[in-house]
Amino acid sequence: MNGMTEVTQTERLYDRNAYLTSCTAAVVSIRRIEAFDERGERETAPVLYEVVTDRTVFFPEAGGQSSDIGWICSIDRLNRRKEMLAVTDTQIRDGEICHIVSCCADAALPFRIGEPVSLQINWERRFGFMQNHTGEHILSGLMHRRHGFDNIGFHLSDNSVTLDVNGQLDEEDIMLLEWEANEVIYSDLAVEVSYPTDEELEKINYRSKIEIEGQTRLVTIPDVDICACCAPHVRRTGEIGLIKIVKVLRYNGGMRLFIACGRRALALMQKRQQRIEEVSHLTNRSQDEIGDGVRHLLAEIGDLKQKNRDLEYRAAFLRLETVPREQENVFLFVGNMDPIVQRNLVNRMCEEHSGICGAFAGSDEEGKYRYIIASRTRDAREVQKILRDKLGAKGGGKPEMIQGSVTGTQSAIKAVLP
Ligand SMILES: [Zn+2]
Repeated sequence: MNGMTEVTQTERLYDRNAYLTSCTAAVVSIRRIEAFDERGERETAPVLYEVVTDRTVFFPEAGGQSSDIGWICSIDRLNRRKEMLAVTDTQIRDGEICHIVSCCADAALPFRIGEPVSLQINWERRFGFMQNHTGEHILSGLMHRRHGFDNIGFHLSDNSVTLDVNGQLDEEDIMLLEWEANEVIYSDLAVEVSYPTDEELEKINYRSKIEIEGQTRLVTIPDVDICACCAPHVRRTGEIGLIKIVKVLRYNGGMRLFIACGRRALALMQKRQQRIEEVSHLTNRSQDEIGDGVRHLLAEIGDLKQKNRDLEYRAAFLRLETVPREQENVFLFVGNMDPIVQRNLVNRMCEEHSGICGAFAGSDEEGKYRYIIASRTRDAREVQKILRDKLGAKGGGKPEMIQGSVTGTQSAIKAVLP
């Protein structure tokens, strides 16, 4: 996020005081936003307006951070609030800050141009943004100082906070970084905002150093970070409460860090704790031993699969024993047999029968069979050709063994087999 203060008619009260939750202001302009549905017809409800005021406490969407939401109220001469409308979004247009106001269909706005209104942000949400945004400064600042990485992307919304950097760290360094970032919280450092002159700025080594017109707003966390930024931050790092790196992905040659700070981090950890407790309960192990519990279950599943394969093979072998030895071609339908067992079975069939032998795994409900067909004396591809020509089977192989799959019922397949 750059620290440029754009030329604007709207006075940005959040610039100097991020803790201002409401203000009175005069309406400068009102513009109805035409919205159309997918059929191209004008939407009638709700009606949206862009309301510009001479000053505001609403931070607009900028630099990857979602905008403030809140309320706009008409007021009487004694500044008593009258009618309240929701501000669902805030955007910068041509240097002006537009409050997107949602109004019921056909209801006239309860204020006109020139009239005073009261603006109030959703403070709980904004404070969460301030915690997460300042947490991002700490992480980016530390990575910049310790590893020389630059922050090349930032996103902060109701659902997620991500930051992208142009370098990679291993798991241990990530944990160290997280630890150090939380030490900055315990130190409860002041987060200072300053507006240095161009001359002063030249001597300062700060992040996001891009050529910009106008006044630069510097956000400084002593010995941790100096960054040009126009967004609201907490006053002291202690207010962030907790910084948690939730997930790390390799991204664009660098890393994308998913983070959560403050209440968001606590809520997330509570949810994870619940899930771990659930697995602990299901595996009948303590939380510290759930890894062993899951490994034990996986091993048990592996054993059961092997036992199942043995039983499948024995059942098919018993069926094979009922086929007269002198029968040359033998084809068995074996249900959903494991491919390894299926192959062993076909080999066994070829030892005992001189023609072409095959096993079809699958079911009529599925409407599809996987087959392995082999022969010691003849070309198994003969059968592949029949299955392909008559039933559109896909597959292939060598004269001694082919495999493939065919769509159809058991009786339809049996009808074409030699
Ligand atoms: Zn910032």
